[in-house]
Amino acid sequence: MPTIRSTRTFRRNPELSPASSKRQQEYYQTINSTGDPNQKRVSSHKEIREYAEQTLGSGSALAQAVKLPKGEDTNEWFAVNVVNFYNQINMLYGTITEFCSPKTCPRMIATQEYEYLWQDPMNRRKPPVSMSAPGYVEALMTWIQGFLDDESVFPTKMGVPFPRQFPALVKTIMKRLFRVYAHMYCHHFDEINELGIQAHLNTSLKHFVLFCREFHLLQPKDYGPMGDLVSRMLQGDTKKIGILD
Ligand code: ZN
Repeated sequence: MPTIRSTRTFRRNPELSPASSKRQQEYYQTINSTGDPNQKRVSSHKEIREYAEQTLGSGSALAQAVKLPKGEDTNEWFAVNVVNFYNQINMLYGTITEFCSPKTCPRMIATQEYEYLWQDPMNRRKPPVSMSAPGYVEALMTWIQGFLDDESVFPTKMGVPFPRQFPALVKTIMKRLFRVYAHMYCHHFDEINELGIQAHLNTSLKHFVLFCREFHLLQPKDYGPMGDLVSRMLQGDTKKIGILD
């Protein structure tokens, strides 16, 4: 099983696996085909992040970017975006790992009111367990990586169908990925500000929630303590939120 560090390195490396690389290329082209006419080609994480930032304040580009492209298969679009959000969250969480240790964060919480317990995917009869935040994130990323590398779940060959339960799996993956944003916002926002990556985090979260709204992937309760922030973000009312200033 890959460790989170090697997973992150692998995913941040421009030499992505053929599956990810193909999906991301298509994704970038899609992003690139929306928004204003002065758009330029984006071909790397850094560029896509910068592109997304430029568009954050400029209205509906992100909202457009999440829409299913004409003629695209919904499952394929889900797969492209799951890979993208997995990479974004891995990268964002990677910037604060030195501040998020079993000592500083012995439980995977978002405020003191929400604790996310880990359900061992190999043994669903076992009750969910409390884990440290880094332990939870590592288990989560390893669990998702297993699907990304599994041709029977995330097929890359033309004509190979996605499994019937794929949309349900995407919902579960997105629900769990959101918890990493929630932990970062609720417990590491000062460090994120100090590192100067709050704009990246906000853009990434906004993109994520717009995508979830577009395809009804998360329920309001899944946002937990972030519900208010998310609904304001969806209303485009970010200026009024101190945390985003
Ligand atoms: Zn933490």
